Amino acid sequence: MHTIFALASGAGRAAIAVIRLSGPDTSTILRHLAGGLPKPRLASLRRLRHPDTQETLDEALALWFPGPASYTGEDSAELHLHGGRAVVEGVSAALITLGARPAEPGEFTRRAFLNNRLDLTAAEGIADLIDAETAAQRRQALRQAGGALARRYAGWAERLTRLLAHQEAAIEFAEDGLPNTLEDQVRAGAATLAAEIESHLADGHRGERLREGLWAAIIGAPNAGKSSLLNALAGREAAIVSARAGTTRDVVEVRLDLGGVPVLLADTAGLRETEDEIEAEGVRRARRRAEEADLVIAVFAADAPPDATTLGLLAPGTLVIANKNDLAPAPATIGGIDTLAVSAATGQGLDALRASLAEAAATRAGLSEEASLTRPRHRAALSEAVDWLGEAGRAPLPEISAEALRAALRALGRLTGRIGVEQVLDVVFGDFCIGK
Ligand code: GDP
Repeated sequence: MHTIFALASGAGRAAIAVIRLSGPDTSTILRHLAGGLPKPRLASLRRLRHPDTQETLDEALALWFPGPASYTGEDSAELHLHGGRAVVEGVSAALITLGARPAEPGEFTRRAFLNNRLDLTAAEGIADLIDAETAAQRRQALRQAGGALARRYAGWAERLTRLLAHQEAAIEFAEDGLPNTLEDQVRAGAATLAAEIESHLADGHRGERLREGLWAAIIGAPNAGKSSLLNALAGREAAIVSARAGTTRDVVEVRLDLGGVPVLLADTAGLRETEDEIEAEGVRRARRRAEEADLVIAVFAADAPPDATTLGLLAPGTLVIANKNDLAPAPATIGGIDTLAVSAATGQGLDALRASLAEAAATRAGLSEEASLTRPRHRAALSEAVDWLGEAGRAPLPEISAEALRAALRALGRLTGRIGVEQVLDVVFGDFCIGK
C-alpha cells in the first residue's frame, strides 16, 4: 500500500494550504520532513526541511493522526502550510522524494471505505457536503455522511440475512426437527421488509431533488411580466424586460436559494401563436420546459383577461400569479386555482410570492423527518431488492425463495458496499447452534 498525499484545500494562492497524507510510511515521512513525530491529534509548529538539501521549505503546523482512529483508518497526517504556490510545490516535491505519491481523486475516502470507516452512502454524503450550495443541501449531506442511510440500509440487510439464514436452515436441516412454520415466517418477513423499502422509495424523489436542485419554470402570455418577476426574484437583471411582446425567445435561467432548496428558475418565451420561426421555437421550448419542471409558475396580467394557452397548461400544484396588481385588482382565482396578487413594478406581494415558492419547494424537495435516498443508484438497488423480495414470497420451492433472498441481499450489499453472503453462515450457526 502506497502512502499518498494531496492538497486538500483549494488550488491557488491562499493564506493557508492543507496537505493531507495517508499510508504506512506517514510516520517515517513526518520524522524526515518535520524533524520528529508530533503528539497525536495536536497541532504543533514545525520547520519543514527538504530531506536531501535540508533547505527550510516552510514553518508549518503538523498534525499526526495514527491509525486506525483516523479518517482513512490508516496512519495519516495534515500539514498546514503557508498557501503560496512555491511552498506547496516545494513540500510536494519533498514528499515525493520521501516515497509518497500524489493521491487519485477520492482516494482518501476510498481508503476510509476499504478500512470500514464508512459505507458507500456515507462516502457519497461527504462528496455531497463538499458540493452543498444551500443550507438544506448541507443538512441532508451531513446526515448522510453521518451514516443515516448507512444505518437504515445495514438494518435492512441484517434482517434480510436473517431471513435467508432461516430459509436455508429450513431447507438443509428440515430433518433435524426445526419448526415447520419457519417458511411462513420467512414469507411474512420478506413481505414486511418489502413494504418498508417501498415506503422509503415512495418519497416523491425529495432527496434526489434536493441534491440536484429543483426545476421551476415561469410560463405565461407575452407581456404578462414573466421576465420582470424572474428579475425581481433573482435580485438582478437576468432577463430582458420589454414592452414589446416576444422578446424572450429562449429560456433564461437563474439559480435561487428558496428556503434552503436550490432552484433553477427558467423564464420562458411568452406563449402565443406566432409566424416568427425563432419565436415559435421559443414557445415550443417553453411548453417542454413546463412539462419537465418540478414547479410551474403561471403568470397572468391582472389588467387583461387570462389567455387560453396558459390556462390550458394549469395543473394541480401550479402556482398562479396575478401580476400588475398595481394596474387592476387581481382576480381571486384563475382557472379554479387561488391566485397570488403581486406587482413586479411596485414590489407588492413579492415577499408572499417568495414564501409560497419556498413552501412549494420544501414540499417537493425539502428535508423529511427520515433520511431520504439521494441518488438514482440508491433507487435502482432498492427497487431491485423489492422485486427479489416479491419473487421470494411467490417462489414455489424453498430453494428458489432462498436464491431470490440472496439476490435481494446482493442488491442491498451493492448499495452500501457491505454484506457478503458468507455472513449468512454466522447467523445460521448463531441462531440454530448447528455444528455442535
Ligand atoms: P414578459 O414578456 O412576460 O416577460 O413581460 P416583461 O417582464 O417583459 O414585462 C412586460 C411589460 O410589462 C414591461 O413593460 C414591464 O415593465 C411591464 N410590467 C411588468 N410587471 C409589471 C407590473 O407589475 N406592473 C406594471 N405596471 N407593469 C409591469
